[in-house]
Amino acid sequence: MPEQPNNFNWSLKNLLSTIPDSLEQSRVKILYTFLILSILKVLIVIPIAYQNNQVPQLKLAFILLIGYVLLTKLLLSHKRYAVLISHIMIIAGLMIVIIVLFGYAKTINIMAMQFMFMVILSGFYLLNRGFGIFYSILSIIPVILFLFKNGDLQNLNNSPEGLSSPAYEIMVFLNFITMVLGHYLFHQAFSRNVKEKELLNEKLLIAVEEANIAAQSKSDFLSTMSHELRTPLNSVIGMAELLSDELTSPEQEENLKILNFSAASLHTLINDILDFNKLGSEKLYLESIAVNLHSLIHNICSGLRIQAREKGLELVLELDEELKQIPISTDPTRISQILFNLTGNAIKFTSSGSVKIQVEVLDKDADKISVRFSISDTGIGINAEKMESIFEPFTQASTSTTRNYGGTGLGLAIVKRLLTLFESSVHLESEEGKGSKFWFDISFKRYNQALDNDTNSNEQIYDLKGLRVLVVEDNPVNSLLLKKIFQKWSNIPDFARDGYEALDKVIANEYDLVLMDIHMPLLDGYEATLKIRELSDKEKSLVPIIALTASVSSNLNDKIREAGMNDYLSKPYNPKELYSKLREIALRKK
Ligand code: ADP
Repeated sequence: MPEQPNNFNWSLKNLLSTIPDSLEQSRVKILYTFLILSILKVLIVIPIAYQNNQVPQLKLAFILLIGYVLLTKLLLSHKRYAVLISHIMIIAGLMIVIIVLFGYAKTINIMAMQFMFMVILSGFYLLNRGFGIFYSILSIIPVILFLFKNGDLQNLNNSPEGLSSPAYEIMVFLNFITMVLGHYLFHQAFSRNVKEKELLNEKLLIAVEEANIAAQSKSDFLSTMSHELRTPLNSVIGMAELLSDELTSPEQEENLKILNFSAASLHTLINDILDFNKLGSEKLYLESIAVNLHSLIHNICSGLRIQAREKGLELVLELDEELKQIPISTDPTRISQILFNLTGNAIKFTSSGSVKIQVEVLDKDADKISVRFSISDTGIGINAEKMESIFEPFTQASTSTTRNYGGTGLGLAIVKRLLTLFESSVHLESEEGKGSKFWFDISFKRYNQALDNDTNSNEQIYDLKGLRVLVVEDNPVNSLLLKKIFQKWSNIPDFARDGYEALDKVIANEYDLVLMDIHMPLLDGYEATLKIRELSDKEKSLVPIIALTASVSSNLNDKIREAGMNDYLSKPYNPKELYSKLREIALRKK
């Protein structure tokens, strides 16, 4: 049952329960205390004024009494009246200052000073800083006017005039009480407020810590999962590559194509999830490697061309020939990822027509070269309303996209984030039903030395005869895969199952190269490398070591170099990538 308003209830409890903010609560408490004390003061004045036959004072006291009682009732009825009542109380105080100065007392007595201070105090405590200053000035003006009018400060005495004793003394005393209580209540509110804020801060810190832990465990989970997925996927990709040489029928070729396509899709998906994870935790850095952009884009396009051809699309590449002569420093993996994502989408969302990749030099000087990349298609296009949201993670242009085209909606979010690392941003022009064009500009640092074109050539003869290799790998499937791959390259490597066995073999035999897995029981790849590097025989301690790892650690590069390894390959890798690394060492040996 709703509570009935009770006219005899003068308690502040109900009103306070409707005010959530503790500072506001205290303001109301101070105001209420002021009102009650004012009523008390008037109640004391009335009989004394009556006894002394001070009619004007008696009249004023009655008016004030009724006024204060009504204001108290009004305050208790709803919190919204608090500010209005504060103003009324302050103005009443001001009036008292004026009446004391110019009416009854005609002197600056202690009561005038007290009311002046109470007006100042109330302006600041009950209202705010602005009103505090405003009412302070208003309360000082009558005093100054009074001093000007009366010539000097001789009038600054405290002789009681206007009110008879002991009413005057009691008033003065109660005014002091009012001031002390006002300060006390405000200070109480102030310290409670500070304490509340401190408590809130503590809770906030705990919440932030919990959120960080949750985010970290999510991130760790994703990293572990993708690490675990990479290892078997490595075998799938490697085995598929091996099978390509043993095909005996068109049907087998068709089956292998499906296997390769699925493995590649899975690989992309794992990489996307991992990258997205890294993007969120700011763990992504750009490498700076000398690159011939012309060859890089050619290589990227040869992979994509097959994809386009399978859909009956033409992939047009318009590549600025100037780029052939200008080597640059950049992160080729990330450039490839951006182009793969955007061109992959263009091919995916186009059923007929063409996809065009344009790369043109915009500007160049001795140190820098600015390049514009555009990827346009004649596909389904994008609705104007969706042009911004598709760059958000897990967002696709329509709900039917996944059903019709698959995908996770992560690609463009990754592209957007990667481009910020290149201090660039992606732009989009599109018309529904006609096609889309994504473009971005990147300013690259020029690499001022000629590049060895040999590394970009497509050598077709795979032969590592005579290269003495030790493979350190604890996973039997991976060992089997590597054995088969090496067989294809006319090579039979040695195998070790953990770091200690590797160390023994390096001491006992001569090798040109060690392929080292990182995560192994007993002695892991880092520790085994450190021990090999400590060997006294220089021939053995300086043997080139390449890490093979499914690790997704952000500072992998640093860790590998710190351990003294020369290079690394991330699983899943294409056997051809491994071959090109081994070939460098084989060539150096000759
Ligand atoms: P996904 O391709 O995995 O769905 P993306 O982040 O790469 O995720 O793309 C988000 C969405 O943007 C796509 O689902 C699609 O709706 C839209 N989109 C991206 N590229 C194109 C394009 N070239 N043509 C039409 N729509 C596109």
